[in-house]
This record gives sequence, structure tokens and C-alpha cells, in this order.
Amino acid sequence: MPGSYLIKPVLDGSYKEISHGNGIYLYDSEGKAYIDGSSGAVTCSIGHGCKEVIEAMNEQAGKISFVYRSQFTNQPAEELADKLAAMAPEDLNWSFFVNSGSEAVETAVKIALQYWQEKGQGRKTHIISRWMSYHGITIGALSLSGHTERRRRFFSHLESSPAVSPPYCYRCPYQLSHPSCGLKCAEELQTAVDRTGKEHVAAFIAEPVIGAAGGAISPPEGYYQRIKEICNENAILFIADEVMTGAGRTGKAFAMEHWQTVPDISILGKGLSAGYSPIASVIVSDDILCTIKKGSNLIMSGHTYSANPQSAAAALAVLKVIEKENLIQHAEKIGILLMKKLQNLKEEFSMIGDVRGKGLLLGIEFVANSEISAKPFPKDYNITSLITRLAQDLGLLLYPSSAGIDGREGDAVLLAPPLNITEVE
Ligand code: PLP
Repeated sequence: MPGSYLIKPVLDGSYKEISHGNGIYLYDSEGKAYIDGSSGAVTCSIGHGCKEVIEAMNEQAGKISFVYRSQFTNQPAEELADKLAAMAPEDLNWSFFVNSGSEAVETAVKIALQYWQEKGQGRKTHIISRWMSYHGITIGALSLSGHTERRRRFFSHLESSPAVSPPYCYRCPYQLSHPSCGLKCAEELQTAVDRTGKEHVAAFIAEPVIGAAGGAISPPEGYYQRIKEICNENAILFIADEVMTGAGRTGKAFAMEHWQTVPDISILGKGLSAGYSPIASVIVSDDILCTIKKGSNLIMSGHTYSANPQSAAAALAVLKVIEKENLIQHAEKIGILLMKKLQNLKEEFSMIGDVRGKGLLLGIEFVANSEISAKPFPKDYNITSLITRLAQDLGLLLYPSSAGIDGREGDAVLLAPPLNITEVE
């Protein structure tokens, strides 16, 4: 029994220990090198051992590593908030810092509820989410997540269920195709609002590109524009969960920019500090901030480590590296190249059903034989774990994702290397 480290998902003691990393590579204690092809959990977006980030963290640790957010502010958190306001579109100008994507989703929901309370519309309490989604592991965030396998065990404690289908063209829930489908999957949001009554709906939450629960599903053109219209028409806030897609991952600073859609709340995590220290941000609009300021003037949320100076310094340094090295444009360019290579593989191998995604958030869905149908492999073949294990043996790390098929999880992996991967690498 190696040690007492109890957070391994598989308690079989088979995990190798990573001793160090450099750029896109991780090295285990036996000296084997791996390409970090999924940036861990789509997190280490500027690779490992970045000197600028290490120096910024060291410097901050020498000044102050912790202050409590309700007693003091701190310079790196202030500077990070300003930087995010400058990066974010239109009036998304105000950051609330937490430590993980799940906390950020919970905070966004609480801010949305509070916004309507401050406006005297406290009956607007319902949050609509989609199936085939992942918003986090805590009870609140999991309640919004449409991932049947992760929900199953905790069903009795979940507060709600998703109500809307994903924009999953490869397996359209209506067996239609775009554009003649009339974006029926987006229209489902209106149906869900009508069912609940718009006077009870506070917000709609969605991942711009569906990551962990879908294998990089990118919606058809016009989808988010229609979603935003429906939100506006029904006075519903739109929360973009950019925990996986934000900070340049898809070839834009915020993935919603691909569809010229500005949400009311945008959430960053993962790539914000690229794995160097835990931090996530809930970025809200001027309207939301002003409404709360004019009302109770207090955001009723926060964690002990919120706006931690050390994490803020790491995130700030990461964003500066992304900017200095033009990594967002680079991700777009390399993403196009990698997508072309995946499309070639798809032609060659009948077990690849679909390749998709945006920028450097790419997904591969596996099927039994794409020349015959899109039927998945039998569940007990465990194709996703087989492929990720084989790839790891060959020195390539992939993220095991899933793809929902008739209520069961299908097989998909995410390919999401650090944004600074080179063409040769
Ligand atoms: N939201 C999205 C879109 C995610 O992909 C994830 C994690 O994969 C989360 C939220 C939860 O983030 P965390 O694991 O940092 O709590």
C-alpha cells in the first residue's frame, strides 16, 4: 500500500509518480517522458516549469502569502481583476475569486440568485442547465451537471436536474441536421422556460464547448446567438462556464467570442493559473455589480482562500506569458493543424466516429465501425480507458471524456495540449 494519499480515483496502487515537468513533457520517477497531451485536466496551458510564473510566485511568497479577503485586499488580486476586466468582452468587468471551478459555479449561481433578490424578484430561483455537461463536483455544481455517471450515486442529494438537450450534432437528439434543424436544441431552452415560468427562472448555464462530459462538442453556428436572445426575451441571466474553455484554450481569450455572444457572468478556472496554484474567477457584468452595490452592497459568498495573493500572482504571471508569447493566436493556428491531422486519422480508422472542438480543445469520439453506423462499442469494452492507457504506455497523456448516448456514457477522449506546443512537438 503506497502511502496514504486517498484521492486517487483508482485505489489499485498502479499510479506512477511524476518527478518533474518541462514544457509539454512530464517525467516519471523512472525517467519515462510523457507528452502532456491533455494539459492534465485541460489545465496546464502554458506547460510545466515556466520560469516567469515560478519567479512571480517566489517573489509574492516573500512579500505576503495570505491575507483574509474580508480584512484586506492585495496587490496581485487587484491587478489580476484589472487584467481580466481588460481581457473580457464589453461590460464583464468585475471578478470574484475562488479556488476551483466548482466553487466558481456555485458562486455564479449565488450571485445570479442575489441579483434577482436585489431587484425585488426573489421568486426567480431556478437555474436551467443542459444534459451532457459538467459544472463541478460539489452538490450544487453537480446538480446542474448533466453527467449521468457522476450524478448516479448522489442522486438523493441533488437539488435539480438538467432540462435541455446539448447541441450535439453528431448524435442530434432530433435526428435532424444543421441548418435545416432550425436549431431545435436551442429552442428547447424556451420550452424549458415556459414549463417553469419565466418569473421563476434566474439563469441558464452552459459550457461554450462541452468538455469532460462530451468530448469537445462545439455547437452549430447561430446556437449561442439564439440562446442569448431567449435569455434576453425572458429576463434570464446567461452564465458561461468557461472553466475549461477560457484563458485562450479555444483560440480566443473567452470561447464565447467565437459566437459573438456576451454572457452576463463568465467563469474562468483551470487555465487561468495553468495549474501553478488554485484559483478561479467569477466575472460579472456592470449591471450585476451595480444592482448588488445599490442593494445590500455585499456579495454573500466567499472562501477562506478567496483572492489568495500567491494564486493571484501565479495567474497574473500566466496571463502575462500568454500575452507576451501570443499563445491565443498560436493555439488557434496549432488547433487547425491538429484538427486536420485528426480528420486524416478519421478517414483511416473506422473506430473514429467524430473529431471536433475548437482551438486546442479537441475531442475524438470512438464507435464500433464508423463505416456502418455511429453505434458505440459495447460498454464493457471500456474503450476510453483502454485507449488512454495504451496512449500513456506510448508516452502520450489524454483526458478520458465521455459522450452521452441514449442515457449511457459513450467513448471519447480530449486532446488539449499546452497552448505553447510547437508544430514539431
Ligand atoms: N466547469 C467545467 C466546465 C469543468 O470542466 C470543470 C472541471 O472539469 C468544472 C467546472 C469544475 O472545476 P474544478 O474541478 O476545478 O472544481
